[in-house]
Amino acid sequence: MVLLYKEYHAPWILDKSPHTGKPKTQTRRLWEKCRVRIGSVHQARTRLFDKTSTFCLQRILNTWPETLREMSEEDAVAEGYPDKKSFLVALFEINRIKTPDLDREIWAVEYEVVKKKCKYCGRKGPSKTLVKGVGFFCNEGCYDRYIEQENIRKGRASR
Ligand SMILES: [Zn+2]
Repeated sequence: MVLLYKEYHAPWILDKSPHTGKPKTQTRRLWEKCRVRIGSVHQARTRLFDKTSTFCLQRILNTWPETLREMSEEDAVAEGYPDKKSFLVALFEINRIKTPDLDREIWAVEYEVVKKKCKYCGRKGPSKTLVKGVGFFCNEGCYDRYIEQENIRKGRASR
């Protein structure tokens, strides 16, 4: 199960929202049933079928159903928005909802970004699953340098 985000949400999740100065730590989904379990880890992507758009792994900390009417102002800030009103505008736009129903039940999901040690530079940061079985790299540059290093090493070994 991949969690899909808008491109502009990625830096809010990895770093901080420009509206709140804090990272975005919640997301709301228009699911009938909750599709993630507490404790499970999911890839966060900006393009559903594109592995390279994975920008981090997220561990689910909490999930709860609520109506948008019940949602608190505090949780809109956890979503990375200045207030509930602007969060709702964005939610309806993202989900292409023309006639909003504030009494419809949706799912709130709270997560944390999984941090792992980069196999190249050793820095602990948001992990990317760039290549399965190779390891975690903090960015594409570190992955490229690691592969380069490995190729040199293998080249030497075969001589
Ligand atoms: Zn690195």
